[in-house]
Amino acid sequence: MAETKSLIPPAAAPHVLIFPIPAQGHINSMLKLAELLCLSGINVTFVNTQQNHSRLLSFADVQSRFGQFPGFCFETIPDGVSASISSPEDLLTDLFDRLKNVIKPGFRELLTSNRLNSDARGPVSCIIADGVLGFAIDVAEDLGIPCISFRTISACCVWIFFCTQKLVENGDIPFKDEDMDRLITSVPEMESFLRCRDLPSLYRTKDVSSPSLDFVNTETLYSGRAAAHLINTFDDIEAPILSQLRSYWPYLYTIGPLNALLDNLRSRTSSLPVSSNASLYAEDRSCMSWLDRQPEKSVVYVSFGSIAMVSREQWFEIWYGLVNSSYRFLWVRRPDSLITKDDEESHIQAELVDATKERGYTVDWAPQEEVLNHPAVGGFFTHSGWNSTLESMVAGVPMVCWPYLGDQQINSRYVSEVWKIGLDMKDNCNRVTVENLIRDMMNDKREELMQSTGKIAKMARKSVSPDGSSDRNYEALLEFIRKSC
Ligand code: UDP
Repeated sequence: MAETKSLIPPAAAPHVLIFPIPAQGHINSMLKLAELLCLSGINVTFVNTQQNHSRLLSFADVQSRFGQFPGFCFETIPDGVSASISSPEDLLTDLFDRLKNVIKPGFRELLTSNRLNSDARGPVSCIIADGVLGFAIDVAEDLGIPCISFRTISACCVWIFFCTQKLVENGDIPFKDEDMDRLITSVPEMESFLRCRDLPSLYRTKDVSSPSLDFVNTETLYSGRAAAHLINTFDDIEAPILSQLRSYWPYLYTIGPLNALLDNLRSRTSSLPVSSNASLYAEDRSCMSWLDRQPEKSVVYVSFGSIAMVSREQWFEIWYGLVNSSYRFLWVRRPDSLITKDDEESHIQAELVDATKERGYTVDWAPQEEVLNHPAVGGFFTHSGWNSTLESMVAGVPMVCWPYLGDQQINSRYVSEVWKIGLDMKDNCNRVTVENLIRDMMNDKREELMQSTGKIAKMARKSVSPDGSSDRNYEALLEFIRKSC
């Protein structure tokens, strides 16, 4: 029976300010941390950029989810959002520009103005900033407040970022297109399986001093100045990498999978209803009743997260692949995910539409965690975003991975080669491959995939259960926060 605790933080409770970069995956996991802290009696201020804040708050469930915590408050800073982004390169360049020119000064202004000082919850006693926001560490140092760096991506990707200089010195980067399958030996713990194509997408550059590479390298090294580090992962799956990272960052707390840790704490400490993800998109829940009507483990859930964009050609290859596989599918087609929209309808073949009506369902955005845990879902065709990967691990659902950018390239390699819970379709989007890999996941290779998937799901749940590694680390984090108050 859950013990219902007061949601009002005790007098003189710490006040933590949480600051993600303005992207769905980052906001999502940092909001989970915010909710965890609120449930643990900590005051929390969550800083969003203006546009994301308006989008988030336009959804009633976000308001009710956080409105129930008297110690919780949203704050906003300007974002300088640009009107049109049409490629992954534009996306990153635009983000770096905005971080430097708008978000950084806005954050400093927020912390140094009187806006937060008059707060009835007391002054901010600790900052938890996204791991790539080194300027937050500077502001915290100026104000004499400890700053904790939070990595929302996989530890294996953080470790590659750490090794950037070594990759350059060893001549591993830049690499030629024909060298994509060459093994890379300069990243310890990954020598036997890391190929050029598995490096995070930023490394696919001819210019090793490109702004993106420089950004991750500088920010990763700079974040060493943080008082402690958090990663949304768990020890059992990334142990060798974590021990490498801990030799640089001794106060490294793994507190993942955060979605599972939060579910556990919710069920232990309160009788609050379990709420969904905090999304920047409106969830279409009609897919849940469609799933209710499908046989057990029969459906492939297809979603490429909040950032990935597909070309018309890729879109059709995926669609044909899904239809030709003959499996049922639930496909999230974000309205802003298709790169070219012109004349779309006239190209759609009647056979695709008919097959989709018969055994498919499409939505703009789904309640993903609930979908993955629905008994009808048997596989996940994913872009290998880190949140999606963790959510799939916890739900025990095998994956077909089609990574798009950032850490997704290395995540999908770990999924297929190290954890063996999925199949990697990297750089190979054609209808035959899609069809074959979906068949492998749902049938031909299912047994072996399900063995590892079951094992990893168990490990994930153990890590967040009382006295599991992430649960213990979360307690250590609370102690750290309380001491710095
Ligand atoms: N998500 C969702 N509904 C969808 C698609 C995604 O709720 O239809 C959530 C998903 O559960 C995950 C997040 O959006 O928590 C996506 O984060 P991820 O790191 O996987 O990818 P990104 O969006 O950062 O590329």
